[in-house]
Amino acid sequence: MPRRAIYPGSFDPPTFGHLDVIERAATLFDELVVAIGTNSKKSTFLPVEERVEALQACCAGFANVRVTTFSGLLIEAARSLDSRILVRGLRAVTDYDYEFRIAMANRKLAPEIETVFLIAREEHSFLSSTVVREVATLGGDYTKFVPAPVVERIKRRIEA
Ligand code: ADP
Repeated sequence: MPRRAIYPGSFDPPTFGHLDVIERAATLFDELVVAIGTNSKKSTFLPVEERVEALQACCAGFANVRVTTFSGLLIEAARSLDSRILVRGLRAVTDYDYEFRIAMANRKLAPEIETVFLIAREEHSFLSSTVVREVATLGGDYTKFVPAPVVERIKRRIEA
């Protein structure tokens, strides 16, 4: 049985921090499914199709990584993808509380599924989609924070 892990998130937009976690997970597991959650009632910065395309372009070099979307409960998505490993990233200690609560809730709902935490390189540790959205909408240089396929799409979004 191949070890198939899921890396779920909003990826709105994907950043070098996400990519760092993806690279690490791709070396640890046989297959990695990057799964973009579409539950959010909030309006999104990049449409989900653009996030899928951008992540596919970013992951093109990894033969064992694919990108998909999911709605509804994450553990149900994991079960239907036949995966028992959830990958999440940790930045500063401030992420811990939120991630701990989600991991514990998921464990209660699906004891067979394990959450694994990975830590990005320190130069990516401050990066979040929120920071990128703020810098980009306020006219700052966001190109240092996101890979090229994401830069193009943010540019179009801002100029639209
Ligand atoms: P969500 O909206 O589900 O929190 P995000 O798209 O913001 O999803 O992030 C997905 C996962 O990636 C989360 O576990 C988050 O902590 C992690 N992550 C985001 N940015 C970084 C980073 N710079 N370093 C490490 N992990 C990160």
